[in-house]
Amino acid sequence: MPSLNVSEIHLCQRCSRLFAYHLAGKKQVWRFGLVGSESFPGKFFHDKIVGQLHKKLSSPNSRLFNAVNRICHSPGDSFHSLFLETVEKHFFLNFLNKHSQKLETANLLQIGKAFEKWCAFLSEFICQIAQKKGDTFLLSEIFYPPEQLISQTYESHSEINLTVNGRYDAIMFDTQKKEIVILECKGRDMDRPDEDMTQVALYAWLISNQTGIIPRAVILYLTGEQERYLISKDKMKSLIQQMPNLFDHVLQIIEANTNKAQILLPRSVDKKLCKRCPFQSRCNNDFGQEVPKDSGIDVIIDLFNKLKLPVFDAGHICGPRFIRYKLKPDFSKKVTVTKIQNRALDLQVAMNLLDIPLIQAQAGYVSIDIPRKVRKPLTLGDVMRKAAPTRPNSKVAFPIGMAIDGSIVWINLNDPATPSILVGGTSGSGKSILLRSMLIALAINAEPDELNF
Ligand code: SF4
Repeated sequence: MPSLNVSEIHLCQRCSRLFAYHLAGKKQVWRFGLVGSESFPGKFFHDKIVGQLHKKLSSPNSRLFNAVNRICHSPGDSFHSLFLETVEKHFFLNFLNKHSQKLETANLLQIGKAFEKWCAFLSEFICQIAQKKGDTFLLSEIFYPPEQLISQTYESHSEINLTVNGRYDAIMFDTQKKEIVILECKGRDMDRPDEDMTQVALYAWLISNQTGIIPRAVILYLTGEQERYLISKDKMKSLIQQMPNLFDHVLQIIEANTNKAQILLPRSVDKKLCKRCPFQSRCNNDFGQEVPKDSGIDVIIDLFNKLKLPVFDAGHICGPRFIRYKLKPDFSKKVTVTKIQNRALDLQVAMNLLDIPLIQAQAGYVSIDIPRKVRKPLTLGDVMRKAAPTRPNSKVAFPIGMAIDGSIVWINLNDPATPSILVGGTSGSGKSILLRSMLIALAINAEPDELNF
């Protein structure tokens, strides 16, 4: 069973092609794939400050723990300065004695500032809880030993499962809300919060699978102006639900690498990463050409402009058979949905289409559905994998296909709104395949004595 750590899976999320190079043994991938702390000594701060501080604060035998515990029982306006003084006296001075000789002055100053930021967050967190809990406050309930190794197995729909391993930076417990809080520190500015969020969501996936509790998270940026990025429990829940897609993608690349098979992989969307990547000149050859920019929207906007019906581009989504273009009519110029719909024939001619395109009003935009030039085949395996997170709670539900927006359409035979299904189509259009897929999808999720045909 393949076993990967969080950083490797995070690399795959940043660029699948880089991850494939990593699997193929290209060692230099890490140097530019995951940029760490740049000028800030991030790893050092992480190991010697965050790790050690949380270790002592989670250990009732340490002097620091006892000193902090004492001041927590009477939190007042001066708590923040008192907390900082206490941690400096019982922790930071020892750190300076041990390490200041080896560090450059600039680094020492950076570490000092970052330490204050970290302590400011901790004291705020403790203060909130201590004020509400009064005498029953227990410091030992809040801090947990840092960097514990967690391993969980992702059970995929294929034969191969994936073991995911991770060591979080620090964990705290919010005794008021009864929530686990993951703390992640970054020795740089908040310039890539989306990517950092995925990394934290991987830890959250591990924790929620092990404890059954969905955590919230705080990412602390130790340099720059914006200091914190908060991920609520609800947001985390939706991020965790997306993890199986990432894991399936990872497994697909591992399988291709094991079989030495060539595989089409998307380019990274991070242009800055591509700019400094040494594989630039070869990655299109290795993993497929870059998909050219879709030009359909330019044709549509140009046509409506010529017809004196100005519209704005509101994006597009690709389903397996259709591309849905989204337009916003310029209402200030009296462009209405009906006027756009009346131009469907003009659009058919301008876009060289065999059929009249479907134009409909949607919430906040007008959709125009245009068939893709090359249909994307949709296998039952793809559908089953993508469908798993939205599966209805029913033994007799099966995914019937994918909607234009990429969402999976379920049919639930238990649902009174689905009394019967009519399958129609010309010879060779796939009716039998559909029925067979439907039966397989039903049989996968039920025992032999639960289903009768
Ligand atoms: S050039 Fe960009 S897409 Fe290609 S491997 Fe490097 S980071 Fe990935």
